[in-house]
Amino acid sequence: MKIICIGRNYIEHARELGNKVPEEPVFFMKPDSSLIRNNKPFFYPDFSNEIHHEIEIVIKISRLGKQIEKKFAHRYYDEVGLGIDFTARDLQRKQACDGKPWEISKAFDGSAPLGKFIRLESLPDPSAIRFRLEKNGREVQKGNTKDMIFSIDEIIAYVSKFLTLKIGDLIFTGTPAGVSPVKIGDQLTAYLEDKCLLDFYVR
Ligand code: ZN
Repeated sequence: MKIICIGRNYIEHARELGNKVPEEPVFFMKPDSSLIRNNKPFFYPDFSNEIHHEIEIVIKISRLGKQIEKKFAHRYYDEVGLGIDFTARDLQRKQACDGKPWEISKAFDGSAPLGKFIRLESLPDPSAIRFRLEKNGREVQKGNTKDMIFSIDEIIAYVSKFLTLKIGDLIFTGTPAGVSPVKIGDQLTAYLEDKCLLDFYVR
């Protein structure tokens, strides 16, 4: 199983980090050891002083495929959920500045808390999925998949040019604006439409 993450997929978030809006999707990967399931706590790592939350819609691949055309991409996923792409922003800034890869800032153990999945067909409008993140009961991020720069189907078409997608692979589809640091003791709660799919503490 692999985890593919899309960067800079919402205009407001690209702007808040001072990045250009990309012309093609940007993707990177996390290993399976980054996953935290069942609302288990995230343990703040000692190599960073600036871990940011990034709430993201996650899709689960349901069919093997490569070089998938955009018009067929919807056949390759039928469940959607929420995950956090925890990012050590201090390390990411340094790596980017030195022209080095992102992994130490994005792919570390526990950097991908993952919530429950729901069937796409159970949603009121699968092309406009609303989601939000609360930190200690206060809303910090809010998004709608209709505001993505690259749609889920475009992401699948692009990624599958380079990688074979397998059943169970996960795609984190990018974060909307509002990223901010977390600290020990914070509670993060994430909602898709009005369903709470993820709820855990930073320890
Ligand atoms: Zn992200």
